[in-house]
Amino acid sequence: MEGYQGTAIRQPAPPMTYICADCGAENQLKPREPIRCQDCGHRIMYKKRTKRMVQFEAR
Ligand SMILES: [Zn+2]
Repeated sequence: MEGYQGTAIRQPAPPMTYICADCGAENQLKPREPIRCQDCGHRIMYKKRTKRMVQFEAR
């Protein structure tokens, strides 16, 4: 990515599965990764487990 190759991850976390609110594609995102559909680039995703809508505003 941006020079982080080889850096140990201190807090391993299982990726969460999100469903894109726009195109419905499933995306597995780690907690520290930005919420963004890898298919269409939409930023509103549903958590698959909770079905609760989560929205992350771009900074
Ligand atoms: Zn999408």
